[in-house]
Amino acid sequence: MRGLMQGDHLLISSLIEFANKNHGDSEIISRRVEGDIHRSNWATIYKRSKQVARALDRLQIAAGERVATLAWNGYRHLELYYGVSGSERVLHTLNPRLLPDQIAWIIDHAQDQVVCFETTFVPIIKAIHANCPHVKYWIALCEEAALPLDPGLPKVISYESWIKAEEGGSYTWPQFDENTASSMCYTSGTTGHPKAALYSHRSTLLHAFSTCQVDVFGISARDSILPVVPMFHVNAWGLPYACAMAGAKLVFPGPGLDGKSVYELMELEGVTFAAGVPTVWQMLLNYMAPLGVKFSSLKRTIIGGSACPPAMIHAFQENYGVEVLHAWGMTEMSPLGTVCTLKNKHLKLSSEEQMKVRLKQGRALFGVEMKILGDSGEELPHDGIAFGDLYVKGPWVIENYYRNDQESPLVKGWFPTGDVATIDPDGFIQITDRSKDVIKSGGEWISSIEIENIAMSHPSVLMAACIGVAHPKWDERPVVVVVLRPETKLDKADLLGFYEGKIAKWQVPDDVIFVDGIPLGATGKMLKTKLREQLKAYSLPTK
Ligand code: AMP
Repeated sequence: MRGLMQGDHLLISSLIEFANKNHGDSEIISRRVEGDIHRSNWATIYKRSKQVARALDRLQIAAGERVATLAWNGYRHLELYYGVSGSERVLHTLNPRLLPDQIAWIIDHAQDQVVCFETTFVPIIKAIHANCPHVKYWIALCEEAALPLDPGLPKVISYESWIKAEEGGSYTWPQFDENTASSMCYTSGTTGHPKAALYSHRSTLLHAFSTCQVDVFGISARDSILPVVPMFHVNAWGLPYACAMAGAKLVFPGPGLDGKSVYELMELEGVTFAAGVPTVWQMLLNYMAPLGVKFSSLKRTIIGGSACPPAMIHAFQENYGVEVLHAWGMTEMSPLGTVCTLKNKHLKLSSEEQMKVRLKQGRALFGVEMKILGDSGEELPHDGIAFGDLYVKGPWVIENYYRNDQESPLVKGWFPTGDVATIDPDGFIQITDRSKDVIKSGGEWISSIEIENIAMSHPSVLMAACIGVAHPKWDERPVVVVVLRPETKLDKADLLGFYEGKIAKWQVPDDVIFVDGIPLGATGKMLKTKLREQLKAYSLPTK
């Protein structure tokens, strides 16, 4: 028997409609490439996103066509989020940190018809436009007067003039099936061509409902939220949608991602909640510590994207009174899979014991199912000890990649994450490695993340990466590559001694390599493939 409830489709346009009606004056603040701080609100975003929708009609961009953005976090990007998806086109966020050739390949693969870009990225557009035959319109996110005049550019339209032409016109969001594609994001694959996750209106809304929950991001209309996570990668962890659902104030950092800019914006706009990858927070903490400044409004911060070093969780909590929520997810999961929030039973624990829980990547959101499998595909127990390949499923997990000419990535309906993890009896996962980064020594696995975390808890260590190096007897042995904090000294023996008593003897790295920098990928994660390449000529010390 069919239920007798209204079956309205879950569409992204309903979020902006809601935010306009109920939270119209809730602010949207953006640091801009123009250099100033711009103030808008949900009502204005609503109005201008409808202008975007009408302007796309005017260009005769059909439903389902891809409209790309090459932009920082800011109000114009937010208008495109709603204007493009709300009008049944597909928002394609491009990562400007990729190489121009990769960006051109991605635009061509997605067959984008429109590319909206920030003027900061003019050099990229100059380098790629000749290789993007499908693109019909290049739109610069600026006023007419600020249009870049470089002769190496194709014909460029000013975003402000483009949407101004639609001022005063009316627009009704189209209604369509909620499984329609809404946005896409290419994964920052380290091998082969990137692959695209193609999100739907339904997956996006369900993800937003779930992330707003108290035990997840706990977003409310009282929050002032700073997504440092970029809108160009996995939709800034869905925050632009979740904040509309909650009616929260949004504060966008634009291109200002250095410690000073982020700190000043937080203080200026009373930010209560922030989200970012560990590398960004490291820059913030490095800026604040020598000045001795504190946060006056920040209460919680979500850290994810790569393992959050325990030292960072300690620093936020103990030095600044800010709660860290460690989170895990991936492009193929929209991206959120787990968040580390304590349960009632954990409240009785000492703060040291609580910290042990907080260091894990957390427990599943409602909607995400998880299992770990051993080498022969057997399901492993959730005892917090056994580790295996982590598989996930759920309504915001990928079913297949866009234009995938190979087999679906699913195995019996489950998506293999490529991560290796334990799951404890309370459902908390701990990621020990990417499966390709696992170090196998004498038939035993060594977690590179654990080795890195210990190194990074040493006061002289700024960054650490652990990789396996071939060994004639043990197959592989761990080596830790370290960047020291400025003006500090540390020798190999001291760091190796620091591991004593923290892990088993055979897990302690065989060597320490000091370097000036560790290569980072386009999403701020350490690029171990590149690091291994750089250390090709390295051989282990003979003992
Ligand atoms: P991406 O698709 O670029 O967002 O990358 C997803 C991958 O980042 C995951 O499969 C993990 O390997 C890694 N990752 C994300 N969050 C965490 C975390 N909290 N701890 C460890 N690894 C993480």
